[in-house]
Amino acid sequence: MTYSTQMEAAKAGIVTPEMKTVAHDEGIDVEVLRARVAAGTAAIPANRNHRNLHASGVGEGLRTKINVNLGISGDMRDYDCEMQKVDVALKFGAEAIMDLSNYGKTHDFRRALIEKSPAMIGTVPMYDAVGYLEKDLAHITADDFMDVVRAHAEEGVDFVTIHAGLNRKAIDSFKRSGRKMNIVSRGGSLIYAWMEMTGNENPFFEHYDELLEILREYDVTISLGDALRPGCLADATDAGQVGELIELGLLTTRAWERDVQVMIEGPGHMALSEIAANMQIEKRLCHNAPFYVLGPLVTDIAPGYDHITSAIGGAVAAASGADFLCYVTPAEHLRLPSVEDVKEGVIASRIAAHAADIAKGIPGARDWDDRMAAARQRLDWPAMFDEAIDREKAEAYVASTKPADPRTCTMCGAMCSVRTMNRAMNGEGVSLL
Ligand code: SF4
Repeated sequence: MTYSTQMEAAKAGIVTPEMKTVAHDEGIDVEVLRARVAAGTAAIPANRNHRNLHASGVGEGLRTKINVNLGISGDMRDYDCEMQKVDVALKFGAEAIMDLSNYGKTHDFRRALIEKSPAMIGTVPMYDAVGYLEKDLAHITADDFMDVVRAHAEEGVDFVTIHAGLNRKAIDSFKRSGRKMNIVSRGGSLIYAWMEMTGNENPFFEHYDELLEILREYDVTISLGDALRPGCLADATDAGQVGELIELGLLTTRAWERDVQVMIEGPGHMALSEIAANMQIEKRLCHNAPFYVLGPLVTDIAPGYDHITSAIGGAVAAASGADFLCYVTPAEHLRLPSVEDVKEGVIASRIAAHAADIAKGIPGARDWDDRMAAARQRLDWPAMFDEAIDREKAEAYVASTKPADPRTCTMCGAMCSVRTMNRAMNGEGVSLL
């Protein structure tokens, strides 16, 4: 039997090559994975036109994945720099890259990205609409939006963020919520402005069946965007956010009926104390679909350090059930990230995901930490560098100062507790002079 999507195959009892890849990488039984894909609790975004893809799974029982956003803006149009960011993302193990280019003709860059990247590729077609169609927002029609989605699907994009849940009902909840930061989702703000200017219903909500047909044809996973994600702590878990989430849950089952895989996008900015409950609400309302969170940033006051505010929230979110973390860089809220910003963001997100996987009890997740602990106990510096998440940084730090005893470091020198204990436990004397 031929199949259109991973989900259709899974429901029919077919194990696809992509399922085998994911099961192998995760160290789980492929039949267990197939059942989760069939149920929608795990997704394998894998466009049939993304030839170079190394499939990854997102969802129940799988390692927490991370996504790197990149792409040009109208003010910063250096595609070579964006390709350097791709290299950094791949080097540090990002499983997904979203091209969020939002100026001019983005097709050539996206095609090169898809050809180059074994990581899954995501886009937000709404961002590309003005440049692709060469029309201003108010003149774009619902059919035009579908054409942009189709173009991205044909090119090989594995998942698309679609803000279909921001319908008239959700907007009513938003307007009555009285938010501090209104709508901070870029795609959400554009949809809202389009709806206000045209008086029409959200085109992706109104023409959802047509949208699903396009996605089904190429096996593009729909990442249902949270247009009303909170943009500050004060707006978290308000009626607008929860009202839209209810709509996303209803849209999830409609997608699954067409065998289109689904991920749900989530907050945003949120106090630590609200994160775990939000993960539970999402899983309940969206039928255990994989949850993809941006942050959450746990405080609003740290521009320049938002890779840290989001890594704190991301670790708590993933440990509480989120499946996929969108990285945040130190440049968040300030500028388009540099290559170095991307590196900082990827590593922060990678750490959050790994910390969560240990807490979630993902099989084998802690082995890496155990290898590092063993290397530290032996004061085996080459082995420590081998296990370091950022080898170059660790090596540069050690090389930057010279301890008297090269087996130790300049933190404690002769009082190195590891050296002291190794000697004491071997029955050797300890001299500090
Ligand atoms: S000197 Fe201190 S910080 Fe450095 S390895 Fe020994 S115990 Fe660790």
